[in-house]
Amino acid sequence: MHTLSLQIQDVVGENVNICYQCEKCTSGCPVSPEMEFVPAQIMHAAQLNLKQKILGANSIWLCASCETCTTRCPQGIDISAIMDALRIIARREKVKAGVPSVPVFYNLCLLSLRFVGCIYELGVAGYMRFRTGALLEDMPVAKEFIKRGKIKFFPKFRNVGRINRIISRVKKYESI
Ligand code: SF4
Ligand code: SF4
Repeated sequence: MHTLSLQIQDVVGENVNICYQCEKCTSGCPVSPEMEFVPAQIMHAAQLNLKQKILGANSIWLCASCETCTTRCPQGIDISAIMDALRIIARREKVKAGVPSVPVFYNLCLLSLRFVGCIYELGVAGYMRFRTGALLEDMPVAKEFIKRGKIKFFPKFRNVGRINRIISRVKKYESI
């Protein structure tokens, strides 16, 4: 079995071992205060192959992929891509997500892309609320969004065939 650093390298071609813990990534990360392990700690844990600690942490699911860490790293490490890789590895290895609602959200977005060809916001948001048991919580805001035309009540189907061809190609690529 590969070490975590090799697995990350396989998935995104990034080398965690060149991180020297300057913490510039962490100091710029907007969600680090909420993370169990901040980006620099994730890098260090990956170097030490503390796989279960990282894959089970909320950090990889809270990451907003904003790429601030990536632009700040003096070593040119794409930390945001490493966060992607860790999510991919966690899903492949069926590790329970540290923030379960995030993979549910990703699945719903993918489902929406497959059937509608774009993200049907009202459907995704409604189902998320249904899953979390807070169905009516956002109703006043949702009503306002719909009234102002910011969210469409009905889905607008477009490019469904094209999107599905892209998804099939990605799946084929991922299974290689
Ligand atoms: S900014 Fe780069 S070198 Fe510094 S701690 Fe983060 S990943 Fe490591
Ligand atoms: S990409 Fe993720 S880890 Fe990096 S700064 Fe943004 S939220 Fe933080």
